[in-house]
Amino acid sequence: MSGAGSTEPSRSGAAGFAGVGAGSTFRDDLAAASDWVASYVETVGERPVVPPVAPGDVRAALPDAPPEQGEPFADVLRDVDALIAPAMTHWNHPRFFAYFATTGSEAGILGELLTAAFNVNAMAWTTSPAATELEAVALDWLAQLLGLPRGMHGHIEDTASVSTLAALAAARAVRPDGVVYASEHAHFSIEKAARILALEYRTVPVDDELRMTTDFALDDATAVVATVGTTSFTAVDPVPALADRCEQAGVWLHVDAAYAGSAGVCPELRWCLDGAERADSVVVNPHKWLFTPLDCSALWTRRPEALREAFAAHGDYLASSEDAIDLRDYGPALGRRFRALKLWTVLRCHGRAGLQALIREHVRLAAVFEQWVFDEPGWEVVAPRHFSTVCFRRLGADNDELARRVTATGEAFVATTKLRGESVIRLAIGNARTQEADVRRAWEVLRECAR
Ligand code: PLP
Repeated sequence: MSGAGSTEPSRSGAAGFAGVGAGSTFRDDLAAASDWVASYVETVGERPVVPPVAPGDVRAALPDAPPEQGEPFADVLRDVDALIAPAMTHWNHPRFFAYFATTGSEAGILGELLTAAFNVNAMAWTTSPAATELEAVALDWLAQLLGLPRGMHGHIEDTASVSTLAALAAARAVRPDGVVYASEHAHFSIEKAARILALEYRTVPVDDELRMTTDFALDDATAVVATVGTTSFTAVDPVPALADRCEQAGVWLHVDAAYAGSAGVCPELRWCLDGAERADSVVVNPHKWLFTPLDCSALWTRRPEALREAFAAHGDYLASSEDAIDLRDYGPALGRRFRALKLWTVLRCHGRAGLQALIREHVRLAAVFEQWVFDEPGWEVVAPRHFSTVCFRRLGADNDELARRVTATGEAFVATTKLRGESVIRLAIGNARTQEADVRRAWEVLRECAR
């Protein structure tokens, strides 16, 4: 086996790639791209978080038709720099506080680069032995980090929406034609999955702490979905009580821990996953709060045979692998990206201690911000804060308009949600680059815009 470093630099155009036209090699272009990426990541905080562009601006700046002849990669990179990057909403910005903030970490970016180079399809063991087995290893490591039981089947889907769809399809294979129950604050991906699967969807009211109540009838249920960290308020549904009820009724329990599940890496926050070991399926998104670039959603189940029943199918051209798992049999897609590589890279390069340090810092920063809101007359914290997201409002103000004004400054990006019909602002901390100065700046801008 020859090492990658032993090969002669090939001209970029060897496979019809126009770098050759400018006399550059793939190595030259790769070096230019990696320089650009390093500078971007280092300086993204100096850009406006949300760009001052209007719909149509980007299209208008780009050629209407594709080039007849290939162009040098340098020209593409120049246009990325001049036209694309300035029109991006920068999710990797330290003052991105909307939705759930995410991080394309350095480790994750490097993992993605290697994945693109391999370009394997991890649909079956035979088509990609290392990708299939690394996926099992990465999910086993992640289960250990989060205190979930080892030995469950685990694989990666692109998003929590698809993980939940897969879990509910498995639940339907066990108990067809029933109802899916979830909190009135559950993410709309649950309702969407139920709709796709032609299952009825019913919401369950929440208590004063915005947690799903548990005294609803289960006779007609196919599945119950408990949320660990609801999207709007990061409430944690009572998973142990729901697990009791589901076990008694023989109903599938799916835990949607897309955002907050990552907090389980810290012993002091592990309570949020209590009871998840009794669920039939659990989803956690490393692409939300575990520093892994989009897309990467981890799905575990204690009942892989139900996933297989829902999804196993094959064509004559694609025999099943012998004595090995073919991951295409466990989810809706045939073609599967080698997502495990970036997750494994993130877990290795950060380690348990590094992941804990980042999550703890985000929780600390959220507590600091929450205290500023508590201490400021005219402002109010509106929901209990469990993790790194603070929900608050300016009393007597149009909070949607306030969030829009803050975001229009380019200094910080905050978004709103609704609590009992009233708009409230969410400040979600989750980017690895966010520092106290960034949170302080967001608070200053919020107060300036509220005046
Ligand atoms: N579940 C929860 C609790 C979420 O907050 C979200 C998105 O924010 C989702 C599911 C959907 O995630 P995805 O975008 O990975 O489908």
